This record gives sequence, structure tokens and C-alpha cells, in this order.
Amino acid sequence: MNTSGQIRHNWTLEEIRTIMDQPFNDLMFQAQSVHRQYFNPNEVQTSTLVNIKSGGCAEDCAYCSQSARNQTNLEKEQMMEVQEVIEQALVAKERGATRLCMGAAWRNPNKKDFPRVLEMVKVVKALGLETCLTLGMLNDEQVKQLKEAGLDYYNHNLDTSEAFYPKIITTRNYQDRLDTIDKVQQAGISVCSGGIIGMGEQHKDRAELLRTFATMRMHPNSVPINLLVPIEGTPLAHMKGKTDSFEFIRVIATARIVMPQTYVRLSAGRMSLSDEAQALCFMAGANSIFYGDKLLTTDNPESDHDVQLFAKLGIQMQQNIKAEMAASKMAEQMTELTA
Ligand code: SF4
Repeated sequence: MNTSGQIRHNWTLEEIRTIMDQPFNDLMFQAQSVHRQYFNPNEVQTSTLVNIKSGGCAEDCAYCSQSARNQTNLEKEQMMEVQEVIEQALVAKERGATRLCMGAAWRNPNKKDFPRVLEMVKVVKALGLETCLTLGMLNDEQVKQLKEAGLDYYNHNLDTSEAFYPKIITTRNYQDRLDTIDKVQQAGISVCSGGIIGMGEQHKDRAELLRTFATMRMHPNSVPINLLVPIEGTPLAHMKGKTDSFEFIRVIATARIVMPQTYVRLSAGRMSLSDEAQALCFMAGANSIFYGDKLLTTDNPESDHDVQLFAKLGIQMQQNIKAEMAASKMAEQMTELTA
């Protein structure tokens, strides 16, 4: 078993499957050994999500309540005002979050609303929070303007393997996603990109998704691992309770091993994990969570419950200063890569 925690970008699918399929205790030991080489094992980074424009999305993601093509009860809302974002950012900061992730249900940002998004980035940064956006696909000019506004992170999930992708989304292809991720990394903005477990994909698709991330020329700074939350009115509503939590933990541990410097984030679906399963996720190397009572549209454990769980486990919430140090370390590497 290799516990060296070496940073590699040439992982093969076979190597990743061998890691993922080893006995559970060996996998946990390897993940924890690698984790301790790069991170404080008793510290978790926290991000809060704000939906700055919900519903009416032109894409057809089969899991999403915000797609205009899915018959859900979600109400389409206008884009938030900057002042509302400031209010939410202040609440998130007060509760201890270090990053505000702002999401808009768009295929790509439109000309009319984009200046307001840039303004949001500037004001949230001025409040001392890191900024993350998820807006869909970006063109070169939008990436440049986001960089100039000071955006720290851009979220663009790959969701699943390239082979399984067409079963989940037909309105864009995998290469579109990879292209936006590449543009964002080239501009020196940190990337957050993750996946969803439990959409009907196979074990090999999960390994392949991790291989895609782990062979990028720069690993994403954050990899959120979501457990599908089946929503009534979406094509995946029937997928309730189809995923074994040990399989989920195996994906987290494998992500930790093949991307030792990446923040592996427990994301949607935490409500269906017991405290014990979440504790195993932290042991497997998860070191980031979405924090707050709501994700974009699905429920999340209440902040108070997270605080109690952290107290039981002796886990501290990462302070801003440490998050900044980690981000600047990644930024240095990115400057080297893009020079
Ligand atoms: S996941 Fe994002 S892109 Fe897909 S339908 Fe939902 S809001 Fe649109």
C-alpha cells in the first residue's frame, strides 16, 4: 500500500479501481495517512451556498429541480439584488463560513445580468469572505472579467463519467464542461468541480470520474462529492435509497488518495447520512462541507447540528486565515503552471 501522498497526474483507471476496491480498513488507513501529510485531520473548511437566481434553467440535468424541463414545485425567481447577497454573506460569516458560493441556474451568464454578478463578487470579497460562483459555461471575456473582479473559485461540476454523462444531461456534452474548467484554470481562478453518486451510474463510472479529476494538469482545488437527493418531478425521483453509504465513503477516500492537496467536500445528500457515516467520511479525508440549512434547493443539516457533531468529533472549523493560506499556495502553483 502506497501512503506516500505523492502528487500525480497520470493515474490509470486500473490503479484507481485497485485503491477503491481494497479492504475497507486498508482504504481508510491509506486515505487518513495521505490526508495527514497535507491537512490538519481535525479541521474542516466551511462554505455557504446562496442561490442568486433560481429555476427556469435551459439545461436538462436529470437530477435538478431548477431545470425548466423538470416538473418540480420550485418557483422561478428573479436574480437577487446585490444588497440581498450582502445580507446573506454577513449571516454566513457570522455563523463561521469562510466562503460564499453563489449559484445561478443558467446555461451560461447573459449580458444583462453579468455586471451584477461581478458586483456581487467585489462586495462579498470586501466583507472578508472567499468567493465562489457557479454560472454555467463561460466564454473567454467572462472569465477575464471574473478574474479582474477578484473571484477566488469557480464551480463547474462534471457530475459523472463521460460515458454515463449522456444519460443525465443531453443539452451539453462533457467536453463543454472540460473546456470551461480549462479556461478558468488558465486564468488563474481556482476550480471547484465534483460529482454525484447514486444517479444509476456503475462503480466503474465513479472510478472514471475520479480519474478525470486526478489526471487534470492541475487537480481541482475543491471536489464536492454529492449523494443524489432524488427530487419529485425529476427523472431521477425514483432513485431513492439506492446508494450504499460505504460505497460513498469509498469514493471520498479514493478522491483523497489520488488528489492529496484537494479539499474533498461533503455536499448534497448529507441529510441521508447518519452522524456515524459522516464521521467516517471525515476519517476518509473529507475536509470541507456546505454549511447552512439549505443548499441551492435541497435541505442540509442545520448549522447547529453540524456544530454539535464537530464538537463530538473534536473537529474545528477552519479559520479564514488558514483558508487564505491554502488558496494562496494553490495560486502559486497555478501561476507556475500558467506561466
Ligand atoms: S444543475 Fe445547473 S445547469 Fe443543470 S439544470 Fe440545474 S441549474 Fe441548470
